[in-house]
Amino acid sequence: MIKLKTEEEIELLRENALLVSKTLAEVGKHVAPGVTTLELNKIAETFIRDHGAVPAFLGYNGFPYALCMSVNDVVVHGFASDYHLQEGDIVSVDCGTILKGFYGDSAYTFPVGKVSEETAKLLEVTKESLYRGISMAVAGNRIGDISNAIQTYIESFGFSAVREMVGHGIGKRLHESPDVPNYGRKGDGKKLVEGMVICIEPMINAGTKSIFMHDDGWTVSTVDRKKSAHFELTVAIKKGKPDILSTFEFIEQQ
Ligand code: MG
Ligand code: MG
Repeated sequence: MIKLKTEEEIELLRENALLVSKTLAEVGKHVAPGVTTLELNKIAETFIRDHGAVPAFLGYNGFPYALCMSVNDVVVHGFASDYHLQEGDIVSVDCGTILKGFYGDSAYTFPVGKVSEETAKLLEVTKESLYRGISMAVAGNRIGDISNAIQTYIESFGFSAVREMVGHGIGKRLHESPDVPNYGRKGDGKKLVEGMVICIEPMINAGTKSIFMHDDGWTVSTVDRKKSAHFELTVAIKKGKPDILSTFEFIEQQ
């Protein structure tokens, strides 16, 4: 069942979305060759708590960290560690908050120092596919319109969309209905109506779409060990145009 949100609830989700956006920017300031993903995790956890919120992922189904830190071929749900980021790496940082009874959830893939041209393209195309998906997130369209916009765009560059993991509704729970896949057909799926709030989050692989889970039960990597990128924003469905609750502007203006 899809839980529609009131205007008041949407504003509480916006508060969370903005806090997550600012947390990602705080992390982004420190992404550089030599820093460990554990150090970045600590920065985010402190920042979230200093703003009166709780890191949503810490303890979620037993997840052990405030952030998901997914380096290079790791698609999502990577653990923070004492690995020192290296020039040319990418790190996907997924962050969640709980504030005033609602959730926030956004992700951004950062280049570490200078990355290869192919890697830069993966990041650029994945982020653009998110905005193309968002442009379809208006009342009257269907979930498949979002999915198809993402898939057709990224495949035109030879990249592939992960199938097993998808975007989702968000509210008083981190993951609500509906699912928002990053592949699909126009006109398919649930109709978008005002009051729905969804997280759109393309997880895009440079090579094959196939993934596997590591023995830790969380970390997901590409089978061919090529890089994978992940960008996520939260959108409230309105008539006419999407209301994007989270933003990358804090990251990109610094
Ligand atoms: Mg997320
Ligand atoms: Mg999400």
